[in-house]
Amino acid sequence: MNDGWPLPSEHAEPYAEPFWEGANRGVLRLQYCTDCGKHQFFPRPWCQYCSAEALEWVDAEGKGRVYSYTVVRRAVTLPAFQEALPYVVGYVDLKEGPRICTLFADCDPSEIESDIHVEVTFKRVNDDLSLPVFRPAMSKP
Ligand SMILES: [Zn+2]
Repeated sequence: MNDGWPLPSEHAEPYAEPFWEGANRGVLRLQYCTDCGKHQFFPRPWCQYCSAEALEWVDAEGKGRVYSYTVVRRAVTLPAFQEALPYVVGYVDLKEGPRICTLFADCDPSEIESDIHVEVTFKRVNDDLSLPVFRPAMSKP
């Protein structure tokens, strides 16, 4: 258990290692396709738009807007999350384009609304794993 965040242990595919390495340094990283010029998330061995393997890792600004969310108040299927209740999960549309599924943190669940500006922060799960989560933005873009 980690501060009410009983998350699974790290299991990263080799092509996703730069994402987790960045998260451990407090940097949200995305793949960028040098063929079509689009960012993607989640990590893949090829571009989801043009299938090219010409991907490089770039640092994201870590800013976006809430696309959708839900407040979880009952740990019906995952009793291990009982201690974390209530928590907020949802989607953030990053400035770079990708939509990322995430948890929201460092705020009361009532502060999360669709379309508000949010920024990434990192939740330390254990010595080897930090998880990118989002909170309401301190400053607007
Ligand atoms: Zn591409």
